Amino acid sequence: MHRMRAAFLRPAARIASIDSLATLEFAAMIHRICLFAGAVALALVGAFAQEHAPATGYTDTPFLPGGKWRVHDDTRPRPAVVTPGTFPTDMHRSTAPSDAVVLFDGTDLSQWVGWQGPFGMEFYPSYSKGKAVEPTWKVENGYMQVDTRANLLSKQKFGDIQLHVEWAAPEAVAGASQGRGNSGIGIMGTYEIQVLDSFNNKTYADGQAASLYGEYPPLVNASREPGKWQTYDIVFEAPRFTDGKLVKPAFATVFHNGVLVQNRQELLGPTAHRVRSEYVPHEAEGPILLQMHGNPVRYRSVWVRRLNLDDKP
Ligand code: MG
Repeated sequence: MHRMRAAFLRPAARIASIDSLATLEFAAMIHRICLFAGAVALALVGAFAQEHAPATGYTDTPFLPGGKWRVHDDTRPRPAVVTPGTFPTDMHRSTAPSDAVVLFDGTDLSQWVGWQGPFGMEFYPSYSKGKAVEPTWKVENGYMQVDTRANLLSKQKFGDIQLHVEWAAPEAVAGASQGRGNSGIGIMGTYEIQVLDSFNNKTYADGQAASLYGEYPPLVNASREPGKWQTYDIVFEAPRFTDGKLVKPAFATVFHNGVLVQNRQELLGPTAHRVRSEYVPHEAEGPILLQMHGNPVRYRSVWVRRLNLDDKP
């Protein structure tokens, strides 16, 4: 009886097993279809969002030399993100080498004047039109903070330099793109190395932190989180003019938090917003400008070493 029942039940069990397999395969197929449909839907939503996301750059500005990218081109690839390594400056302000001119050591603004006037491409033609005022940036707890009333302009002028700057974007994130943690270092009042909170903040490539503003994006994005101290180490070769003509353009090398982001990059001319500028003959030395762009960016250590690159030993 037992054997008979077993023999009787065996085909049914086999049928049930085949049914289960078919059901499982059907369920798996439905699952795969659902996954595929979901992926397609996500891709469509992503493409739609990308197409309709507010642009951070421009599509109507002049082309830069080479004709590939426009000034602030919205389609120019954003540099890859690199997490920088750690440094003592993560914890405390660095000290300057013995031959440096210390422009700010956390204590006072004695090396600066306030500057209410243009900079970048308009700096030299309008230098006499701007107004030097008392510097009003707040100094406390070993840093100075951008004040909305004026830029800062160094009293001393420089040509070829090594420049070290420690800065921090506001910890409280406000604004987006160019409106978030924007300041800048205007070398000779004219050539801006951008200061911007570029940590998870999309903007046009040639306007993000450590860009040569409006000309070259950094090689990578080595930004730290807002509120964290960051470093720029810059080598700037001033342009040379003879008889009112450019004989050597400016070059900039920049390390951002110890990561190379500009490698002796030739500047195309004074940096500018939305326009393609040309070199304007100017003096061999000029002041360093720290930009007021409405955001409370902080600076902690600024020192500069004069280089004489025409007279190498
Ligand atoms: Mg700026």
